[in-house]
Amino acid sequence: MKKLSIRLKITLWFTAALLAISFSTYFLIRYLEHQSIQKNIQDNLIETVEHNVDEVEFYTNIDNIDLYNETDHFSAYRNGYLEIDDDFLDQVNEVYTALYNASGTLLYGENPISRKTSDLAFTDSKIQRIKTGGVLYYVFDRKLTARGLEGLWLRGVVSEQQGIEHILHVTSLSLQILPLLVLISIIGGYLLTKRMLRPIQEISESAAKIGTGDDLKQRIELAPGNDELHQLADSFNHMFERLEQAFEKERQFTSDASHELRTPVSVITAQCEFSLEKTRSSEEYEAALKTILRQAKKMSRLISDMLDFIRLEMRADSYVREDINLTELVESVCFDMALIREKDILLNCQAQEGICFYGNRQLLSRLLTNLIGNAYRYGKEKGDITVNLKSRENSIELSVSDNGIGIPREEQGKIFQRFYQADNSHSGEGTGLGLSMVYEITRFHGGKITVESEPAKGSTFTVSFEI
Ligand code: ADP
Repeated sequence: MKKLSIRLKITLWFTAALLAISFSTYFLIRYLEHQSIQKNIQDNLIETVEHNVDEVEFYTNIDNIDLYNETDHFSAYRNGYLEIDDDFLDQVNEVYTALYNASGTLLYGENPISRKTSDLAFTDSKIQRIKTGGVLYYVFDRKLTARGLEGLWLRGVVSEQQGIEHILHVTSLSLQILPLLVLISIIGGYLLTKRMLRPIQEISESAAKIGTGDDLKQRIELAPGNDELHQLADSFNHMFERLEQAFEKERQFTSDASHELRTPVSVITAQCEFSLEKTRSSEEYEAALKTILRQAKKMSRLISDMLDFIRLEMRADSYVREDINLTELVESVCFDMALIREKDILLNCQAQEGICFYGNRQLLSRLLTNLIGNAYRYGKEKGDITVNLKSRENSIELSVSDNGIGIPREEQGKIFQRFYQADNSHSGEGTGLGLSMVYEITRFHGGKITVESEPAKGSTFTVSFEI
């Protein structure tokens, strides 16, 4: 069963269910029909015999008899005559009615199983069953009570055979029609599933093409529709889109990273070649070594930032979120960062008391460290940095302001891109990854980041988290 195609499995199941339904319907119809036919036969028997009760009369005097009706049957009985009206139904619809005297002698009418019923005692107004020659007969007796008829019996007999013949007819008709219907349903079902499952075929072909080829731009294209398979195709296309974006991001990152690493490596190589080319003065060696050290440190920062960034971007789920006291965290980072005291810059911390937030402690510390680090790096001598944390109605706002060199308006939209460094960043210390890391951390916490800056006046970075 495992190796069968879905189409075949559905068709087989469908066929089995259809056969089961057909058979049970057929047997149910047969049973109900049998019941109703047998009841009909019995009702018909009773009705015929009851009808015949009024068709038997007794006359003591022949003159009282209506002689105009010559088709009636007459016979001498006791001290008078019996008149059997010509409406007497002695054989109609396979129902036979016969007139008997009290000792069981047939006086008029027919009984196809008279020999068999001779031993059957007369029972008034009750259906009796008797089987002969493998056929079941219903017998209905009626005692006549009209004047002069006392002691006479009417006995009606009918076989259930006519009903069985009818059922056999229904059976043979069903046996012809049902298989035909089942066959039509199976073929219809098979064609329908084939048609319905065609999109799956297309989905798997497209997915295989995307899987084996290099073309991540390819998408599954189905004829217009809005069923479950179209939803599946949409989900796949959405997934391919995300995959394409992820691959593109990775490709871009690799190319940017190698580009960024190439510069310090070339500088180090050039400095080494310069020093080894010929004997240099000790000042020249010192200068070369200083450059090499600076570039090596830059490389080391780059590699460490890149690893952090990759971890955040590719394995964000490895960072667990918990309830943290953001006020304490901000104060503690500010305390540490205030010790830098670079360029005689003063760091002020204004954190509203008791602000809690559901986030990752390590990442939020990193976010604040990066923003304060930039404020130092791009701040002016003896300047100020202000860190502000406050809670608003539906959000928490964390901002870092400086009165440093500021960022030109046209560059403000680009500074969150990876490896982007604006023209103002002449320090050479940065890696261009700090703000993109801040951006990713904000996004990880479902927040937003904005920047307000004016060249030569300063910058304010504001991160807001919804609560
Ligand atoms: P970097 O490592 O170069 O600082 P970032 O991603 O942290 O990289 O910042 C990107 C660029 O944005 C920086 O190169 C700098 O030009 C600009 N920038 C960031 N913060 C500030 C700031 N506080 N003042 C002025 N310019 C800034």
